[in-house]
Amino acid sequence: MIPAAFEYKRANSVDEALRLLGEHGEDAKLLAGGHSLIPMMKLRLAAPAMLIDIAGIPNLDQIDAASDPLTIGALTKHAKLAASDELQKKAPALWDAANDLGDPQVRNRGTIGGASAHGDPSADYPAVLQALDATFTLAGKNGTRELKAAEFFRGMFETALGANELLTKISFAAAPKSAYVKFHHPASHYAVVGVAVALTIDGGAIESARVAITGVGDVAFRAAGVEAALKGVKTNDADGLAAACAGAASGVQARSDTFASASYRTAMADVFAARAVAQAAAR
Ligand SMILES: Cc1cc2nc3c(=O)[nH]c(=O)nc-3n(C[C@H](O)[C@H](O)[C@H](O)COP(=O)(O)OP(=O)(O)OC[C@H]3O[C@@H](n4cnc5c(N)ncnc54)[C@H](O)[C@@H]3O)c2cc1C
Repeated sequence: MIPAAFEYKRANSVDEALRLLGEHGEDAKLLAGGHSLIPMMKLRLAAPAMLIDIAGIPNLDQIDAASDPLTIGALTKHAKLAASDELQKKAPALWDAANDLGDPQVRNRGTIGGASAHGDPSADYPAVLQALDATFTLAGKNGTRELKAAEFFRGMFETALGANELLTKISFAAAPKSAYVKFHHPASHYAVVGVAVALTIDGGAIESARVAITGVGDVAFRAAGVEAALKGVKTNDADGLAAACAGAASGVQARSDTFASASYRTAMADVFAARAVAQAAAR
């Protein structure tokens, strides 16, 4: 598994990365942690002529959990998210995902920006960042633009990122009653089904819910029916919570592979939605 030949340049700033992207156009790819891009290159599913290494750009790997909204730099590694006590308190769904992602090698190299930009249909963050209603900041030659997570993730390996854009940061309001649970593939740890939930609770009943599911369809999605059905359900009413989570993936074309059939994925979406709601409510 040897990739096609490529050139390599290191960018020391966002501006330099954008300039290099502009110069090399579609022949170029940004390289962050390399844990999705390099395997793709080794399998010859990608063959960029130019790699622009952004891993060393300063100040893009910070977690600002004291700010409102919380802000995470795109180059923040999974391991740093997993080790953040502040994140555990303020957005535990993201902390859950970072702790249960891949293996130590992946967590110590891969970045939240790379994992988001890759748009893998079985990745964890696309569900978590939709449940957190996160905002993505994209830098391009004409300045920056902001997009909501639901607009950013468009399809299988497809995001709203333009060819000459760089994701710089992700921000979201604190969601202390949030959780992410998944049924992971035993080899890769990717989500066969993963559900992220962010709740607000008033007087022991669910006031509002955001529920997002990954691994089931071509792209992570919000489960609007479940979100509506959860409103008003008492958090100690296990049967009511399970009933509200029924049909979590209805209307979604579920994927089938050698590990899990479409009907299994669809059934597990209900089960893991109920677990994620219970875990979020208990926090
Ligand atoms: C064995 C293994 C197990 C894994 N298990 C899981 C898992 O359980 N759950 C999960 O969610 N993921 C998993 N992953 C994927 C992991 O999260 C990767 O780290 C991640 O998908 C890519 O992040 P990266 O920083 O390595 O990006 P790279 O591989 O460097 O880049 C990926 C893509 O994003 C682009 N890109 C990178 N950064 C930016 C940016 N800032 N702006 C614009 N474009 C950018 C690159 O050009 C490239 O197209 C696994 C990977 C491996 C190898």
